[in-house]
Amino acid sequence: MSTEIEHVECLIIGSGPAGYTAAIYAARADLKPILYTGMEMGGQLTQTTDVDNFPGYPNGIMGPEMMEDFKNQAERFGTQVRFGYVSSVDFSAKPHKVVVDEMKTLTADTVIIATGAKAKWLGLPSEQQYNGFGVSACAVCDGFFFKGQKVAIVGAGDTAAEEATYLAKLCEKVYMLVRRDEFRASKAMVHRVLNTPNIEVIYNTEAQEILGNGKNVKGVRVINNQTQQESELEVDGFFVAIGHKPNTEIFKDWLDMDETGYLITQPGSTKTNIEGVFACGDVQDSYYRQAITAAGSGCMAALDAERYLAALND
Ligand SMILES: Cc1cc2nc3c(=O)[nH]c(=O)nc-3n(C[C@H](O)[C@H](O)[C@H](O)COP(=O)(O)OP(=O)(O)OC[C@H]3O[C@@H](n4cnc5c(N)ncnc54)[C@H](O)[C@@H]3O)c2cc1C
Repeated sequence: MSTEIEHVECLIIGSGPAGYTAAIYAARADLKPILYTGMEMGGQLTQTTDVDNFPGYPNGIMGPEMMEDFKNQAERFGTQVRFGYVSSVDFSAKPHKVVVDEMKTLTADTVIIATGAKAKWLGLPSEQQYNGFGVSACAVCDGFFFKGQKVAIVGAGDTAAEEATYLAKLCEKVYMLVRRDEFRASKAMVHRVLNTPNIEVIYNTEAQEILGNGKNVKGVRVINNQTQQESELEVDGFFVAIGHKPNTEIFKDWLDMDETGYLITQPGSTKTNIEGVFACGDVQDSYYRQAITAAGSGCMAALDAERYLAALND
């Protein structure tokens, strides 16, 4: 462990839309932010192809290119973007301590957490092969690309039910694959699904392989886990809605979280239970999970940090 300790006014953890937006605002407020990217530089959008719903790009943009734009804009105002992984934090005293790559310790007056979340996947090799080419973990993001087509969705909880009804408004047909003989979703959501004519719920059924032509999804092979009978569904899109895991492991000794591990922020702000520590983006939002909402809360976090520091100096 290095003994060198660097102090920073504003340390940002994460390089998705939330982290980079926080950096743009913090740098323009002269907080001289340092941003650690984590292993996934650019965040979740680097896993996707077209992003069609981020304002300011009338013709859409590829996810990785958009995140490069975010980075360039953050750097333009002086953000130091560093490749590194925050391996532990210590929020027991001020300034806050942050350890990067288990080697370098920094102290920070304010910490902005923008570590995002990961979609859970089924773990099929074909799911990886067609990720971004017909396989998606976000109906709101990608449903539009399957307008008038047939899709399948896996999941049985509230999110899956909500995403299935969202897709049903756009798509000709939605097959909903439920592993057990019942939903986990609330009664109201199940009622909504069962009363949507173009959703066909297939119980006791699991996806075995996503079928395609090497470029795009063309179907899914499923198995009935009671009868072991296999069959194929013809679909153009395959959605996985089995949950997300927020990247909050390193904060568990310090910050309030809900039962799934999402950070809890004070309503209407990005403040956590520790003074000077703010959270933005998907790491504190299990509901909207969009680039624009992540960016919006990144802006809020930088403003909260700036106002917190200003109040300290009053
Ligand atoms: C395949 C796919 C397609 C999508 N398409 C769209 C779309 O079309 N439109 C849309 O609006 N949304 C889309 N989304 C959702 C969108 O990507 C997210 O809502 C958004 O990226 C969340 O931003 P974020 O900044 O909160 O976190 P993320 O993008 O998740 O970024 C988290 C960042 O934190 C870093 N990190 C994590 N742990 C650490 C650590 N310990 N130390 C340092 N850094 C760390 C990671 O490296 C990463 O840079 C899509 C998501 C996926 C998965």
